[in-house]
Amino acid sequence: MWHQNKLGSTLNAFAHYVYLFSQEPTVLADLQTATAVNENDQGIEVLFYMMTHTINGSSGVGDRGKTGIKTFLKKHECGNQCAHLRLNCEGFMCNSEAVPDESDDY
Ligand SMILES: [Zn+2]
Repeated sequence: MWHQNKLGSTLNAFAHYVYLFSQEPTVLADLQTATAVNENDQGIEVLFYMMTHTINGSSGVGDRGKTGIKTFLKKHECGNQCAHLRLNCEGFMCNSEAVPDESDDY
């Protein structure tokens, strides 16, 4: 599974959050990061080349509209961070009942 590490799990929960709290249903797709260096010479991860799926399919290249949204709802698997954020899974078809892992360091 792609979201077994902390960064992947965070991005997975971020995608879930964006779907729930976007005014028009919007799904983030193809989330990728690149490592960069900030002004304090610290390595940071930067999101790039992000695509979205929207109801009317008009957000740009790669927007597969309702099909993309349905696919997201079908394939999203809630992880520990979704559970920590108490993100509502209504409408999602995932079978995973994620339980917050208290050993995680947030
Ligand atoms: Zn989730």
